[in-house]
Amino acid sequence: MQDYDIIIVGGGPSGLMASVAAGEAGASVLLVDKGDKLGRKLGISGGGRCNVTNAKEQDELIANIPGNGKFLYSPFQHWNNKDIMAFFEGLGIRLKEEDNGRMFPVSDKAASVVNALIGKIRDLGTAIRTNSPVKQVLYKSDQIAGIELKSGEIITSKCVIIATGGQSVPQTGSTGDGYPWAVAAGHTITELYPTEVPIVSTEAFIASKELQGLSLRDVELSVWNPKDKKVIAHQGDMLFTHFGVSGPIALRCSQFIRQVQRKFDIVNVDMAIDLFPGRSNAEVESELRRRLEDEPRKSIKNVLKGMLPERMIPLLLSKAGIDSEVVGSGVSNAALTTLTATIKKFRFRASGTRSLKEAFVTGGGVSLKEIQPKSMESKLMSGLFFCGEVLDIHGYTGGYNITAAFSTGYTAGKHAAEAAKPYSLKRS
Ligand SMILES: Cc1cc2nc3c(=O)[nH]c(=O)nc-3n(C[C@H](O)[C@H](O)[C@H](O)COP(=O)(O)OP(=O)(O)OC[C@H]3O[C@@H](n4cnc5c(N)ncnc54)[C@H](O)[C@@H]3O)c2cc1C
Repeated sequence: MQDYDIIIVGGGPSGLMASVAAGEAGASVLLVDKGDKLGRKLGISGGGRCNVTNAKEQDELIANIPGNGKFLYSPFQHWNNKDIMAFFEGLGIRLKEEDNGRMFPVSDKAASVVNALIGKIRDLGTAIRTNSPVKQVLYKSDQIAGIELKSGEIITSKCVIIATGGQSVPQTGSTGDGYPWAVAAGHTITELYPTEVPIVSTEAFIASKELQGLSLRDVELSVWNPKDKKVIAHQGDMLFTHFGVSGPIALRCSQFIRQVQRKFDIVNVDMAIDLFPGRSNAEVESELRRRLEDEPRKSIKNVLKGMLPERMIPLLLSKAGIDSEVVGSGVSNAALTTLTATIKKFRFRASGTRSLKEAFVTGGGVSLKEIQPKSMESKLMSGLFFCGEVLDIHGYTGGYNITAAFSTGYTAGKHAAEAAKPYSLKRS
């Protein structure tokens, strides 16, 4: 007889929700985490306020999970964003919707969400062991046997759920430990790479730090391939840093830099900023002309101050080949058209991104081809389940990854409980 029906390795959102589903089904569950606290990454998500999910409709949710979001259609049938909201409201955590559908606790305190989850699994009788790093998952004749802790202790179970997360921000405990255990069961790990990560550029204006600290509001940032085709564009806010660009839309574009690099075997990838995404070139040019006509004796660099971010003006003028001291009446129509084009498409090159450790989310992971989407069980090893960021699924920040973690976690917990029947006597 095994020690537990189900052992869940990893107490992030996916492992915690797997514990809820397995415990609700009546299975005896052990949740093991190597850290001293559960839900550490969940606790720092959404700027420390815990972005529990996103309220968008299913198709839009999936569109915001560019890393294999379509795989989630099946887990969402068991547990989707609406279920997540109802679950937390049921635990007494009132939620509020913010911009772009992001859902937060009304308390704005991540601890309230994490504590409610821990309280729920305790109520369900889940055994919890923190400060207990797992060394390996044990397999016997193509079947799960249990786990071995780093201490050498062996704990047996009918099922094991690997919920160890990715490799990003390793100080939260996510150090990629689950991948070799998956490989030992015959699984493939697709290449790991940073997503939702700041972008690096070696452009002279970045090296000179002349724009460092400048934020741009409501602009469009885009990534282009060498055939001059726009690969992706995101609208919102961004920031110039000492190494490149960051901020919400830069993070969203970051994974596409790597995609273009790999697809075309190049290092430098073209990016562009449209400073007025809501306005056509003709509209921008006509405003420029009006401003120059209104103040014909002022230098162009001063005329542009009310219209463009001041610190960008010298760079924009130099890119457009216009002397910044020239007065309004001296600017030719051709120069104005070139300046407009530069404002609408300020091109620069990215040479890559910051590291996987600095990324918010890990791209790649356990190949989804080897996982049953209905149950999250391995197609290769009986009794082995996966959930959360350890899988080859990644979304934009904004509650999408956490939704994927909760949904795959719930699905894995529920089906592991099914697989573990008849249940052993609950241990406490
Ligand atoms: C700063 C930050 C902000 C974020 N903000 C958002 C956001 O706003 N919206 C969003 O959707 N996503 C956000 N994310 C991403 C999101 O938090 C993760 O995708 C999510 O936490 C993944 O959940 P998980 O359960 O798969 O893994 P994790 O949360 O990474 O948890 C894995 C757990 O496994 C444990 N573990 C690992 N190895 C072992 C071992 N050998 N033995 C025992 N235990 C082990 C770890 O200690 C850890 O507790 C953010 C990430 C970061 C870093």
